[in-house]
Amino acid sequence: PFDFQGMRVTVAGLGVSGVPAAKVLHARGAIVTVVNDGDDARAREQAAELEALGITVRLGDGASLPEGTELIVTTPGWKPDKPLFLAAEQAGVPVWGDVELAWRLRGPDAAPWLAVTGTNGKTTTVRMLASILTAAGLRTAAVGNIGVSLLDVVLGEEKYDVLAVELSSYQLHWSPSLRADSAAVLNLAPDHLDWHGSMEAYARDKGRIYEGNRVACVYNVEDKATEDLVREAEVEEGCRAVGFTLGAPAPSQLGVVEGLLVDRAFVENRQKNAQELAEVADVNPPAPHNIANALAAAALARAFGVPASAVRDGLRAFRPDAHRIEHVADLDGVAYVDDSKATNTHAAEASLAAYEPIVWIAGGLAKGATFDELVARSAKRLRAAVLIGADRALIRDALARHAPEVPVVDLDRTDTGAMLQAVTEAKRLARPGDTVLLAPACASMDMFTNYNQRGDAFAAAVRELGA
Ligand code: ADP
Repeated sequence: PFDFQGMRVTVAGLGVSGVPAAKVLHARGAIVTVVNDGDDARAREQAAELEALGITVRLGDGASLPEGTELIVTTPGWKPDKPLFLAAEQAGVPVWGDVELAWRLRGPDAAPWLAVTGTNGKTTTVRMLASILTAAGLRTAAVGNIGVSLLDVVLGEEKYDVLAVELSSYQLHWSPSLRADSAAVLNLAPDHLDWHGSMEAYARDKGRIYEGNRVACVYNVEDKATEDLVREAEVEEGCRAVGFTLGAPAPSQLGVVEGLLVDRAFVENRQKNAQELAEVADVNPPAPHNIANALAAAALARAFGVPASAVRDGLRAFRPDAHRIEHVADLDGVAYVDDSKATNTHAAEASLAAYEPIVWIAGGLAKGATFDELVARSAKRLRAAVLIGADRALIRDALARHAPEVPVVDLDRTDTGAMLQAVTEAKRLARPGDTVLLAPACASMDMFTNYNQRGDAFAAAVRELGA
């Protein structure tokens, strides 16, 4: 592991990643100063805890670079254009995120990382991957952006054979030396552009996940931007580019043939040119975007040497997380599906593509997105739309432009109780065989604490109407 003895390290930001980072750096002999923008009660509490250990904390001063700083370790969410980072760049001071810190602190016999990023599908793919690796008898965990700190895992007592790691574009931005065994970029669509500054910068940060890969760079054949990133990456000798596709696979690809997931990249029997892995029906739920997630997870597992039977068993054992295309109930022949996690247009498009006809519940905070493409591509599947939330007019206008025949109920409400009214309206508009789909294409924070609460409100409303 990296030697921090006597090094002057500035930790940027308290909070869930800053506090443990400051503690471990201090314990490894670094001279630590924490700088934090805020100065509220929570920050003071955390500061007191760190100061008791002998760590310097500057509250309400996240902008200036402390004298003599040799390294900054930042909370991944801090934007790269902050004055602190501009000062660091001028002074030639490197900046690491929480993932880079964990990477540097790994022991010599640490487990290799199989890493996943992409605009959508990361959490699902990483959980599928962990399920497959577990089915193969390997000691593993789903970690990273998924909500399990890599620092905790790297420093913990538990021994792993391999880790399934979810990485956000923010984390990748601040991970200069990270080297995965194999990695996948699932897809690339505009998101978080306010943070990265441009689509090019966002793509470049995502592409960092391929740097130095040892075994395989896994890309999406249907999303050329991911393949371009593989081409631009510098990898270890012998590392292969492996594609996944919803169509029939070419050599060096995984794909779908007659209802089967098929591997033509890692074929065990030299007499055959393809290896059957599982049935499409083993994927849960078997919606197209989710089959793509399963193929990506399978590719990473196969690159690690996992047998075909474990891919099948792992996919069968996988259960999706809540609020991701979750079937809530059937009422009077109408299915109610909660995809509250569809917080951007790319995600919503995937779930809208999985059903027909749809009564669509949408709206919330648009985060600068436009809805024309989403609506134009999904229009023919829509029975009706019910709109809620702060930026619903953007969706209403896109519907007027591209789907003028689709009836729209504009609820003009941003209170939490609006969900019950939205579901009531949707129930009125739906006919037997339809799906009422909550796929907001927006963030939830105008009405709810987070997407979990939004999905729970939807499910509660459905239950109330069914009672
Ligand atoms: P992430 O961790 O990247 O946010 P999740 O696995 O939590 O991704 O899925 C979030 C949402 O994105 C899902 O609810 C679904 O609407 C959509 N989604 C999942 N996989 C894909 C995919 N491969 N392509 C497009 N959208 C997807």
